[in-house]
Formats: sequence, structure tokens, C-alpha cells
Amino acid sequence: MNITKLILLGVFAFVTTGVNAAEQTCCEKAKAAGKDCAHPCCVKAKADGKVCEKCNPPKK
Ligand SMILES: [Zn+2]
Ligand SMILES: [Zn+2]
Repeated sequence: MNITKLILLGVFAFVTTGVNAAEQTCCEKAKAAGKDCAHPCCVKAKADGKVCEKCNPPKK
């Protein structure tokens, strides 16, 4: 198993245990489903190497 997969698994476990499904953003839901978010604003942000701040407001 490579390290990237381990990190992704760790993040995924953290997200699924620490965040209620109802609080997931569109991008997190898409990621959980193994896809990229299809929202135009998110696609644009991703193309710039960022995450869409409109749909993913910084968490405390
Ligand atoms: Zn999104
Ligand atoms: Zn967005």
C-alpha cells in the first residue's frame, strides 16, 4: 500500500467520523463518492488549484 492511499484513508476516516453527513459540502460529498464536484464554481476553483470558498467556507 502506498503512502498516498494511507493518507487518504486517514483523512476519509476523520471526515466520516468527525463530520455529520448533513454538514458535508458539495465537494466533500463528491470526494466521498470518489468523484470531483460538478458545480461550475467548484470546477473553476479546482482548475486554479484551489477549493471553492463559496461552497467550502473555512471551518473553525
Ligand atoms: Zn463543490
Ligand atoms: Zn462551489
